[in-house]
Amino acid sequence: MFLPTTRTEMNRLGWEKADVILVTGDSYIDSPFMGIAVIGKVLAAAGFKVAVIAQPDVHSDKDISRLGEPHLFWGISGGSIDSMVANYTALKKRRKKDDYTPGGSNTRRPDRAVIVYANQIRRYFKDTCPIVLGGIEASLRRIAHYDFWSNRVRRSILFDARADYLVYGMGEKAVVALCRHLRAGKNPKDIAGIELDEVHDLDFERDLHPFYKKQGHVKALATIKFSLTTHRGCYGECNFCAIAVHQGRTIQWRSRRSILKEAELLSRYPDFKGYILDAGGPTANMYGYECTKKLKDGPCPDRRCLFPEICPVLKIDHGRQLALLREIRSIKGVKKVFVASGLRYDLLLADKKNGARYLNEIVIHHTSGQLKVAPEHSEESVLKKMGKCGRAPLVAFKDLFFKFTQDAGKQQFLSYYMIAAHPGCTEKDMKNLASFSTRELRIRPEQVQIFTPTPSTYSTLMYCTQMDPFTRERLFVEKNPGKKEYQKSIVTG
Ligand code: SF4
Repeated sequence: MFLPTTRTEMNRLGWEKADVILVTGDSYIDSPFMGIAVIGKVLAAAGFKVAVIAQPDVHSDKDISRLGEPHLFWGISGGSIDSMVANYTALKKRRKKDDYTPGGSNTRRPDRAVIVYANQIRRYFKDTCPIVLGGIEASLRRIAHYDFWSNRVRRSILFDARADYLVYGMGEKAVVALCRHLRAGKNPKDIAGIELDEVHDLDFERDLHPFYKKQGHVKALATIKFSLTTHRGCYGECNFCAIAVHQGRTIQWRSRRSILKEAELLSRYPDFKGYILDAGGPTANMYGYECTKKLKDGPCPDRRCLFPEICPVLKIDHGRQLALLREIRSIKGVKKVFVASGLRYDLLLADKKNGARYLNEIVIHHTSGQLKVAPEHSEESVLKKMGKCGRAPLVAFKDLFFKFTQDAGKQQFLSYYMIAAHPGCTEKDMKNLASFSTRELRIRPEQVQIFTPTPSTYSTLMYCTQMDPFTRERLFVEKNPGKKEYQKSIVTG
């Protein structure tokens, strides 16, 4: 069942007021891939009345006030992407498209959506109940941070939004605990933690709410409707990436039972054509194993799991994911299950027992013509600033991929994701990347992104300070938009 988003739906449920109203910068797709739907469904399963207002009109009270005030709190999220990242390119040009908005035009998500929505609530509801911030925008901006779009260090978003609480990271359990504390009139301190199966076992519609469906098609639905999340978190900790900052450095994986149950459910949808478009997480091949020391004592404060080398304490084993993929593809009605999330090839090569077998099965059964990998660069000095492994594992992986592809008699390719204008990267580095790609990869990569300094990452710190925070050395940082674009064009042509 969808959570209500109109007064008519609330009346039908016999609610005068909701306990919690969630406000989001995305449209309301009821799917386990959408944070606001997950939080709403978890709260509803815990017995709370939850309603959703998606992409409210920020110039009037017509949307924000249509459900009245909640009993317990307003929950605000900028949506699945930080609103500044969603609204602007790496060169600060306004984006025209938004995959999470009906019709696809980028007209419904305000800049700094969390602050705008919070202020809108305060404007129309004086002395209202607490305002709680969540989602990636609040999470990455929870402490003082460099903001690329205004080119200054901003204070915690809690102050600018004049909010009461901020739930960061993956906050399902915390938000239920918060609700219970507020209902009981208790002080919500020291609330933390989660478990993953329960979330995915909830009853999602896997569709856009009918109220928003009238406004147009939402592009994101096409990729998430028939995809499976197998795990969360990433111990890759690349310096430019916000996933570890938001989802954490510890992998939380779902049980085989929960994933197979969801796959069977998908196979029964009338519009399911037999294809599961992805079974993965932030990095596909981190399912089913974790560092035992980390699980007991938490991540090491003074070292990383994969950089500069893979930590020997981490026992990499793709066996569990192999078994899982076999079981998913044997479900009646499932013709193919693809692994569309990116692979860490250094992990794959380090698994002497199951790594090659895993890649072989990926090549034979789980690739839709192209497999994505993200080397990001070829030059050691730049890779070091990114916190990524060197180029040798990439070349070894590429050779193995094409060997298995040839053995299988298939025509398949690798798609390489690269970054231009990362702190420390010069035009010469991009020229070297271009010649490495032609010489070793025999391709001119098309997927080249200009580095975007998202809040709270190490690479953003480098961008802001022009210094390597690990060595304190001065660092070349390309800040000129035209020259950033030129760096990209060196590789893409
Ligand atoms: S011991 Fe190694 S694998 Fe485990 S948390 Fe520390 S760095 Fe990561």
